[in-house]
Formats: sequence, structure tokens, C-alpha cells
Amino acid sequence: MEERCFQEFFKRSPIAYSCHRAIFDNEGIPYDYEYILANKAFEDLLKIQGTDLINRTFYEVFPNGWEGEEQWKGLVQNAVLNDTSAQFDLRRESIQKWIRVLVFPLHHELIGCIYHDVTTEYALNEETKKLEKELFNNNRSLLELTKKLEQKNKILNDLAIKDELTGLYNRHFLDQWIEKEMSRADRDHQPLSMIIFDLDHFKRVNDVWGHPVGDEVLKETANLANSIICAPDFLVRLGGEEFVIIMPGSCIQRALAVAENIRQTMEKYKYPIVGHLTASFGVAERIKSESYYSWYKRSDKAMYRAKEGGRNRIYPSEDQDRLLNAPVNIKWKEEWASGNPVIDEEHRELVECANSLLYLFLAEVEKDGIMPEVNKVLDAIIKHFHDEEQILLEMGYPDYENHAEIHKTLHDKVFQFKKSYQADDLKLAEFFSFIVNDLIIGHIQNADTDFFPYTQKYAIAEVQVHTI
Ligand code: GH3
Ligand code: MG
Ligand code: MG
Repeated sequence: MEERCFQEFFKRSPIAYSCHRAIFDNEGIPYDYEYILANKAFEDLLKIQGTDLINRTFYEVFPNGWEGEEQWKGLVQNAVLNDTSAQFDLRRESIQKWIRVLVFPLHHELIGCIYHDVTTEYALNEETKKLEKELFNNNRSLLELTKKLEQKNKILNDLAIKDELTGLYNRHFLDQWIEKEMSRADRDHQPLSMIIFDLDHFKRVNDVWGHPVGDEVLKETANLANSIICAPDFLVRLGGEEFVIIMPGSCIQRALAVAENIRQTMEKYKYPIVGHLTASFGVAERIKSESYYSWYKRSDKAMYRAKEGGRNRIYPSEDQDRLLNAPVNIKWKEEWASGNPVIDEEHRELVECANSLLYLFLAEVEKDGIMPEVNKVLDAIIKHFHDEEQILLEMGYPDYENHAEIHKTLHDKVFQFKKSYQADDLKLAEFFSFIVNDLIIGHIQNADTDFFPYTQKYAIAEVQVHTI
């Protein structure tokens, strides 16, 4: 009964089965598996009649040459010899199917096989592989396109910000970049200067030797100027035969010296074909918080004055020319820095105000021109004393009362001067002495340095708090 049950189970199972007898070589290694039985599901799946299997072996039915065959042969041998199971997939071309075969030992040399159709799984795998390959190829093309786009963008960007003829940055770039440079100069209390220069009688070069020679002159000029300046100074072609050099960290004196170097080098240089050429220069140091437009205008005006003055020369901007030639000019010293940003900023402003006031007095400018400056200094002093007292109070400066008293005396003196000035009774020597001795030397350099250990300590403490 049981026997029959097994037979029926084997025969009717919807899963494909077969039974084999292993065939061994002389060394006892199984090398093929003779068919003993196969069920109906096997016949249906593999489209092989049971009668066709009589006296045939596994590798006769599934002849040599399928992918991974050797590996699977080894696996089956191993399963038979070690009483374990093995699984492998093989491709049956006659039925266009992938069959998964599970081999397991039955008894002595007998083994069983179960077969499954896994064609869909392979089809899916193939499809995935195809898609992956497509994706990979698409990605590669996309990467190549992005690279090309980046290169094109760089060319476009360079075209937009660089001058094609000389390779220098152009006006468009300068307009974008200068704001950052100006903010940095303001923030770091650093000077920032500009040299504008324009070739003299350049039109003649074009008229006599033609445009291409003129182009060569422009290139040579760019190279000459570039060989003289050094970083962070920066040469830009503004247009035509006009160039600008921006000099971060340079005061007007240094800018004038560099301009003079370029002027002399150009004057001596023999341009191919054309010979000697000259240029006219305008130089201006940017005033703190000044707009680019105003700073540029001052430099440009100076350049035009240099043209009017006879060409091949350098002019500083008019206002700075006066200051450069002023008999007195108080220069800010780094040892005057207290370490407190508000106090230092206001001290610097006081020095600047004092300088312009001294200049106006010494230049004997009309009273109407001086009065606003006197008021400006007065307001700056009042505001500064107030701010400084507030800061010292907050810091708990022990000599605060005394310091406030010094402020009051100075404050009263300022009012006194204002009154005398209005009454046309201001003694120039006294006022001069007040600005230099009382305000700058007395106030900033002497009295204020007494509290510097406090402001500096405070500044260090603040930094430490920030860095935690
Ligand atoms: P000045 O001393 O007053 O500056 O006289 P100038 O002749 O140098 O000045 P002007 O402005 O009269 O002439 C400038 C000339 O520069 C006119 C213009 O054709 C020429 N130019 C402008 N751009 C280029 C260029 O890219 N290549 C060449 N070859 N010439 C240019
Ligand atoms: Mg010119
Ligand atoms: Mg010009």
C-alpha cells in the first residue's frame, strides 16, 4: 500500500522528478548518472518522453557545453560522495528554458533530481542587466555631456569676464569683484589704491601702422604692466587703451611709486615696429566707505589732469594731492589700538577728522568751508567721549571718574574753540596745538593708553568665549 502510494506520489506530482544511478570511474568518482525513472511533470517540462530516457545518462540528455558545466559536475560529484545536495541552473535550448536542478542522494549510488523552470527569473535578470547597462551608458554619456557643458561654461564665463585680446580681466569682472575687495579693506582698516593709465596718442599707432599693430601694442603694454606689479595688485583692461590696477593694502604713496615704475619702464621700452610710447596715469587711494564710483571718478579725473598736464606723467587725485603736500599729517599708529573695536574705530575717525581740519586751516580755506568740518570734529569728539565712557563703565575701569573728568575738560575746550572761531578770534597755533597735543597725543596716546590693559584683557576674554 505504502509502496503504491509512493509510486503514485512520484508519478502524479506536478513537480518534475527523476531518479538516477551514479556511474563511477576506476577511482570511485561518479562521472555520470543513468536515468532510472522520470515522472510525467518531467516529461512535460523538458519535452522528453520517458521512453527516450531508457539507457541514457544525465549528461547525454543534457549534453556538454552549457555555461558553468564543469563547476556543476564537481558540485554533483561532491553531493554524491558526501551525501549532501547540490543545485545548479542549466539552459535547455531545445525548449528555450532555464531549468534549476536540485540533486540529492537517495540510497547507495542512487540519486534524485528535482527540476524547476526558472526562465522568468533569468528573463528578469537579463532585463535588469540590460537596463543596468543602459543606465551605465546613459550615465557615462551624461557625465561626458556635463564635462563638455562645464568646459563650454568656462569658455563663456572667461569670455564674459576676460578681455580676449590681452587675456586680462575686463571691466565686467572688476565691477563684480571690487565690492568684495572694498568691504575687506573697510573691515580690516586696510588701504586700497587704484592706478588708471591710458596710452598717449594711441590713435596715431592705429592710423600709421594699422589696427593689428595697435593690438600688439596693447598686448605688450598688458605684459609690461603685469611684469611690474605683484600680487595682490591686479591689472584689468577697462577698454580701448585704458587699464586699471587695483592695489589692496597699498596706500597712495606706494601706488604712486608703482605707477612711476610703470611709466618709466614704458617710456624706455621699444615696442616692436612702433618704437617708444608713453602713458598718462591717475592715482587715488580709496577713502574709507567711499563708493567705487566716487573712487573711480577721482582716479579718472586725475588721469585726465595728467593728459592735460602734458601726458607721460602721474597725478594723484586732487584731494589726496593736497593732503600729500600738506605740511602736517597725523598718521595712525598701530600702538594706539586699544583692542576695543568701537573705541579704535572712533579714534581712527578722530585722526582723519583732525587731518582734514588741519589741512583746511593750513590751506587757508574760506570760513564757510571750514565750519562744517569744525562741527564734524566736535560731533565726533562728543560721540566718542560718550561711547568710550560707556564702555569703560561696563568694564569696571577703576579710574573711570578721572577719565571722564579729562574728557569734560577737552569737551569744554572744543566748545571754546568753536566760539572763538565763530567770533573770528581763533588762534591757529592754539587750535593746532589742541588737535595734536591735547586730542591726539594727550587723549589717544597718553590718557587712553592707561585703560588699554583693561580693553585688551577684555578683548582677549571675548575671543576666548567665542572660541569655546
Ligand atoms: P590720448 O593721448 O588723449 O589718450 O589720445 P589717444 O589717441 O590715445 O586717444 P583716443 O581716445 O583719441 O584714441 C584711442 C584709440 O584707441 C581709438 C580706438 O580706435 C583705439 N582702440 C580702442 N580699442 C582698440 C583695440 O582693441 N585695438 C586697437 N588697435 N585700437 C583700439
Ligand atoms: Mg589714449
Ligand atoms: Mg582712451
